[in-house]
Amino acid sequence: MIRRITERFAFARFCVLHRRSPSAQKRWQEKHMRKLLRHAYLHVPLWRTFLREKGIEPDSIRSLADMSRLPVTSKRTFEGKMPEEYIDSSQAVHSFWYVTSGTAGTPFRFLMSEEAVIDKYIDFASFRFLWWRGEPLSSLATVRIVRIKIRGLSSESHLFVPVGEFLSNPRQALARMAAFKAEVLSAYPSILLEMSRLVSKNPALPRPELRFVLSFGEMLFPSVRRFVEDTLGCEIYDRYGLEEIGVVGVECARHDGFHVNTESVIIEITDDSYAEASPGVEGKIIATDLLNYGMPFIRYDTGDRGRISYEPCACGLRSPRLWIKGRYSAYLTFPARRIHHLEFDGAMDGFMNYIFQYQIAKKSDGEIVARIIPGPAFYAGVEERVKESLGKLVGKDVRVGVEIVENIPLAPRGKSRIVIDESTRPGAGQVRGGA
Ligand SMILES: [Zn+2]
Repeated sequence: MIRRITERFAFARFCVLHRRSPSAQKRWQEKHMRKLLRHAYLHVPLWRTFLREKGIEPDSIRSLADMSRLPVTSKRTFEGKMPEEYIDSSQAVHSFWYVTSGTAGTPFRFLMSEEAVIDKYIDFASFRFLWWRGEPLSSLATVRIVRIKIRGLSSESHLFVPVGEFLSNPRQALARMAAFKAEVLSAYPSILLEMSRLVSKNPALPRPELRFVLSFGEMLFPSVRRFVEDTLGCEIYDRYGLEEIGVVGVECARHDGFHVNTESVIIEITDDSYAEASPGVEGKIIATDLLNYGMPFIRYDTGDRGRISYEPCACGLRSPRLWIKGRYSAYLTFPARRIHHLEFDGAMDGFMNYIFQYQIAKKSDGEIVARIIPGPAFYAGVEERVKESLGKLVGKDVRVGVEIVENIPLAPRGKSRIVIDESTRPGAGQVRGGA
């Protein structure tokens, strides 16, 4: 009984942190970071080695600023190592192993924190925007949510629809969602787009009367946001997360950046050599998961890029806000040089009000094709401008074609591919996703 009361009290404190002052949030993060680092030093061989090699006493890392002395880690840190090296060696049983596909299609096996599999934590991390909108915190446990994703479980108030099931029979999936009386839909932007197009072509289809949509896992482009909101008749909240760490941040009603979940994650932005970036400057997103003691992710390079602001948000919350630049890390390689997908992203930036989605396919060393799903505001001149903009990027030795298409094939995990190499090595150049 007392334990339950203590737990409830602890969870309540956890939930209100992001509404407190910036200094209270910082104190919380520093306290939990110190605890995590000490644990990692004592119980995780990899971290003990790291700290000893650098001559760092864990107790000497006191503040967020001190963290810059710690090494940056990434998926590569764990590759080729035995799990015993990088997980908590003091525990005999670990029950939350996950496997995800890595950059080169190689699986990455990791342990998630216990909180990452407890409904009340997950729902709070993702759906706290309902609370911000004035709904009681307790309603997060009862709101009827449908999730279209790769894996998941159904429960009384949660309906899980596998991506494959939705794509193979979207009408049936819509009917199931309607029968379930879903109030909130959570799905990838490309799935939301697919659903909205189906619904706009077939207005008589049964479908749920949604109150909100939560999108995740891919870039939510402004044209897609508007189209989905108009078609499904409700507001979209976007969230940013990582499979390894879980939800990092969610939009508030201002829809101007993700409010970082400061109670569970520390976000740093660095330049390419991992030196701290100036506030507001785009750089690498480095995350520290304050909840995961099984496999500590400390100063973990997410592979994503973005910028952060500590300025107060108009909504009143003082948690920092994060803007993501891209959700994939992939290159196309040409004789002259490799081109990062974010460069293509940059070249396409100006067109995202006219385009729902695009994909850059390398056909050969001398040719790329931009596949474009046009949005409602698309006009013929856009095609030429796209060619021009991409032409500047790839140089005169690479021919640029544009194909207007209905669909862009989904990557195996149900996520769209921004760049794809179709020349000699099928699948080369692909890609990392996010949760
Ligand atoms: Zn806000």
